[in-house]
Amino acid sequence: MTTRFENGIVVTLGEKNRVMWNAAVVVEGERIAAVGDAAEMKRRFPEAESVDCSGKVVLPGFICTHHHFYSTMARGMSIPGEPASNFVETLERLWWKVDMALDEEDITLSAQLPLIDCIRNGTTTVIDHHASPSLRDGSLDLIEKAVRQAGLRASLCYEVSDRNVMGGGVAENKRFIQKVGKGDHQIAAMMGMHASFTMSDATIEECVGIARDAGVGCHIHVAEDAADREDSLAKYKVPTVERLNKLGATGKKSIFVHCVHIDEAEMDTLVETGTTVVHNPESNMNNAVGVTPLLKLLKKGVLVGLGTDGMGSDMLVQMRCAYLLHRLANRDPRVAFVEAPTLLLWNNPAIAERQFGVKLGEIGEGLPADLAIIDYEPPTPLSEANFLGHLIFGLVDATVDTTVCKGKILMKDKQILSMDEARIAARSREVAPEMWKRLQAL
Ligand SMILES: [Zn+2]
Repeated sequence: MTTRFENGIVVTLGEKNRVMWNAAVVVEGERIAAVGDAAEMKRRFPEAESVDCSGKVVLPGFICTHHHFYSTMARGMSIPGEPASNFVETLERLWWKVDMALDEEDITLSAQLPLIDCIRNGTTTVIDHHASPSLRDGSLDLIEKAVRQAGLRASLCYEVSDRNVMGGGVAENKRFIQKVGKGDHQIAAMMGMHASFTMSDATIEECVGIARDAGVGCHIHVAEDAADREDSLAKYKVPTVERLNKLGATGKKSIFVHCVHIDEAEMDTLVETGTTVVHNPESNMNNAVGVTPLLKLLKKGVLVGLGTDGMGSDMLVQMRCAYLLHRLANRDPRVAFVEAPTLLLWNNPAIAERQFGVKLGEIGEGLPADLAIIDYEPPTPLSEANFLGHLIFGLVDATVDTTVCKGKILMKDKQILSMDEARIAARSREVAPEMWKRLQAL
């Protein structure tokens, strides 16, 4: 099956970003067969099916490098007890109860709904971090099934911690990592770990050993709150990144999420080990934990990506949040214009390539056909030279019309094709109150 997505403005991204007006992307199977002038593509591929993209911008599908599908059913829920006054209380009073209350159907629905949201926002690849201690074994299979049904790509892992006996999760990661093996460019696996302050040396060593043997990275929250740093300094006499490095959790395939409370020496360790960091500005602001030293990390040469931490699945909104946050935090209107889009458009693909073994985030001949096609009539000239201005101030508020992943159209004319959105949301509204009831009793 060959399709010409034609007459739109194609933005290729990649190393040499090109902005092409009246262009076409020709998709053959799961890959891009050609990109170029629409009339020429029509001559070369006359038999291909046509999807008209006039009035639209065609971009590579977006990537989210840190998500928590399982947080879906917390939306609108009343949280028992006094409001949390700090980050650790937020975990204890909210998230460690949400994950504990999830049953089998909740896990599936909790994945399906954000996957629909991903399709709606042109996000075609996600690196997720899952927890469901009451139904741990096999939980990653449930999510994998939902991801395949949605038609997206995802790297999955289970969040290991010592916070409760049932929450171990090491075996679930090991089983899933072995099952995925080298992967099929659609599903990948990592070793999921909660955070330094909820894990003993022995647990971390066990996780690292499994990850090393399998050649996968560790996906762990690092120094999200000052409490994680203080715990590491008090118990192990070294800050968080150094502790994790000593235990072998660093490396090119590992993802250290947040890194809000780290010092210069820890940043150097991240550079030396090639460990990637994922920044989640909305989540950090929501939890009031502090501001990641993003500009410093980038200057030192750390590969920093962008995630939502479960706050949502709209990566453009997250990108603009990073842009605004770091301007304000640095009290400097000259910064973050290049840096914030770089996290999303160039660094996230580099991080994803380490997980999926395939080059994503670029429109080019022979590359995977993952596309986000967005309604956008530029009100001023649009070219390579000023694309970031259109991204930050225009495309961020525009609507995604069509989403393509692995060459398959998952949404067209804003209609989700791979999943029954209304039925899934209706069922979730039915079972969520039951889950909330179980949670209140915890
Ligand atoms: Zn997280």
